[in-house]
Amino acid sequence: MSKSSESVNNRIHVKGLVQGVGFRPFIYRLAIRFGLLGWVENRNDGVFIKVEGSQETINDFIDAIRNEAPQASNVVSIDTQNITLENFTEFSIIKSENTSDDVTDVSPDICVCNECIDDLKTQDHRIDYPFINCTNCGPRFTIIKDLPYDRGMTTMAPFIMCEQCNSEYTEILDRRFHAQPVACNTCGPIYSLHQNGSKTEDFQEVVKECASLLDDGKLVAMKGMGGYHLACNAVDEEAVKKLRIAKNRDGKPFAIMARNLNSLKTYVAINIEEENHLTSWQRPIVLLKDLKKLAPSVSVGFESTGAMLPYMPFHFLLFEKMKTDVIVLTSGNISDEPIIIDNKKAIDELGSFCDAVLTYNRDIHNRTDDSASFVTNNKGRLIRRSRGFTPTPTRLNQNVDGIFAAGAELVNCFCVGKGQQAILSQHIGDLKNLETLEFYSESAERFKHLFRVKPELAVYDMHPDYLSTKYAKSLNIPGVAVQHHHAHIASCMAEHQLDEKVIGIALDGVGYGDDGKIWGGEFFVCDLADYDRVTYFDYAKMPGGDKATKHPWRMALSYLHKVYGKSVRDYLELDFLKDVPEFEINLILDMLEKNINTPLTSSTGRLFDAMSALLNICTKASFHAEAPMRLEAECLADLDDHFEYDIQESICLDAMFEEVVMSLNKGIDRRILATKFHNTIINIIFAFAKKMRAERGLDKVVLSGGSFQNRYILERTENLLIENGFKVYSHLETPANDGSLSLGQLVIAAKKRELGQI
Ligand code: ZN
Ligand code: ZN
Ligand code: FE
Repeated sequence: MSKSSESVNNRIHVKGLVQGVGFRPFIYRLAIRFGLLGWVENRNDGVFIKVEGSQETINDFIDAIRNEAPQASNVVSIDTQNITLENFTEFSIIKSENTSDDVTDVSPDICVCNECIDDLKTQDHRIDYPFINCTNCGPRFTIIKDLPYDRGMTTMAPFIMCEQCNSEYTEILDRRFHAQPVACNTCGPIYSLHQNGSKTEDFQEVVKECASLLDDGKLVAMKGMGGYHLACNAVDEEAVKKLRIAKNRDGKPFAIMARNLNSLKTYVAINIEEENHLTSWQRPIVLLKDLKKLAPSVSVGFESTGAMLPYMPFHFLLFEKMKTDVIVLTSGNISDEPIIIDNKKAIDELGSFCDAVLTYNRDIHNRTDDSASFVTNNKGRLIRRSRGFTPTPTRLNQNVDGIFAAGAELVNCFCVGKGQQAILSQHIGDLKNLETLEFYSESAERFKHLFRVKPELAVYDMHPDYLSTKYAKSLNIPGVAVQHHHAHIASCMAEHQLDEKVIGIALDGVGYGDDGKIWGGEFFVCDLADYDRVTYFDYAKMPGGDKATKHPWRMALSYLHKVYGKSVRDYLELDFLKDVPEFEINLILDMLEKNINTPLTSSTGRLFDAMSALLNICTKASFHAEAPMRLEAECLADLDDHFEYDIQESICLDAMFEEVVMSLNKGIDRRILATKFHNTIINIIFAFAKKMRAERGLDKVVLSGGSFQNRYILERTENLLIENGFKVYSHLETPANDGSLSLGQLVIAAKKRELGQI
């Protein structure tokens, strides 16, 4: 047999996240390495390759695709077909035809890779160059203005590549082939440090000064990848306190960044799965058990601290010069406004209370916050989805094309539908703030343009006053309103590509209900099209409406009033009311008795608020969900008891409140009571699931809503259900809170459209 007859031709289809991540040059280099001939092409449904050579070599080539794929790619499948020989004479990259509207892939931002870190010390034109990047790493989403993803369409456009960068950019075998933000000390963006009205641009000076300011306990505003950060030494209590006062942030923990994994281990406990998340190319903040070695004002009494590892070249260069191993790195914004991206605004506003402002002269086009996650039951769960994750699409099994989903009011993200993909926006924030609302509408316009989505259908929350709802209605296209908790369950179903009847349990703070009441403890049987509210937590009065969220003691009093009626006045000696002025107590009791401004709620968040206050753990909240978080922190690890409850048309917890009051009077440890309370909620979920399995033959349980960011609840609920034969679906890549509500809205609207209901 001649050699050519041993050659075969394989057509290879690689599916997954393979676009915008340097996949084609990667394939090209592999083909050259293995001496294979053929071509590679990007198409909408993946990367197509044809290679000719011996089958053995092609098999090795395919193994290498799996094992050596660029870090930001995600190879889901590789299908191979043997086809007729075409006798290729070279290996080439075929220019993709898809400049059409079908192109949707925009890569998220990728942390600087190890090769680039090495290059910082070895490449003459990039010695300590803080914007180093390559095909496998660097900014993407934050700098892109339009497609196709070319330098001219990014905020790198004003920087003209020097000859050396250009030769790397055009050399197909170079690590920087077609790396759009490629730059060096000669031609790229530069940092500058602004201090007392003067400006330093010499980079060695800048980084040295920045390091010594932080070592010395000063506050520095630093321009990051998706916006400004505020930084200070995280072991210097005075510095952290100063930052807390400057940020006007009383009770909410700060995130930290450590030099490396090893030094981080001094401050927090890290298991292997947490380590995987910390070191992933997305570099999210991961909530980790605090070892109490940081300045106390970092985590303000909480058991966990959010930590991350360096992800920009600058971070690495800074730690090289700094003595301290760990800094606070919190978003640079004023109160609830979006994270600042504008240099002038940063210098004016952040500079007014920081000792220095570190900036650079490349614009951030798309603002992103640091993403945040935690690990429970060995699985990572995103709680804020932004840098590193946006705009990676969620792949679905249904057609969501042309749908715009507006999302919720708080921790908003919107979502656009493109074919069978849902593209969730970055974390936007709380829309009540004017600046955030502007960020929302600007980003919505950009997404529609960037992903070539022409919305034909808008979907929004039923709440008539949500600003997201108002925005969606202003689009003047057909629209559909969706119930909040139905959307929660649907969002989790979307993540797991479920399209069937399930047991859906949505526990959260607030959502507008069908009956005009405030829902939030909802036990459904539902599918994507519709839901049946089987039961819910008994309605309780919220004295003062929304104001009750800031004053958990009001909810505790409300529950006591529900249980004891007028004789609640016999229980006012409880500890949690000691610091509340008598006239305020009387005012609230008056409101409760006369039903003045006391909207009814089945909210799980308010129920947790009530218990947290009643146990005198948190009676006043300085930030969202503080009382439930502090209550969770009191839980004991090994106590299985729970309180009595009664599931009827609604779930009555009166007996629990009576027992807690009696126990408090007997002086029983509040940690025992907090634990029993959590166990009660878990037990209710379990009892409900068993009932639905018996009555309706269902065994898939979908858990969603912000209360499932309570790790004690999530971990034990999942385990209990799985041990008892249920299939459990919880949020992993999308947040359980309102941050993924728009994803649920999107798939509900798509389902209703498919069924011809709209
Ligand atoms: Zn790199
Ligand atoms: Zn250059
Ligand atoms: Fe919600």
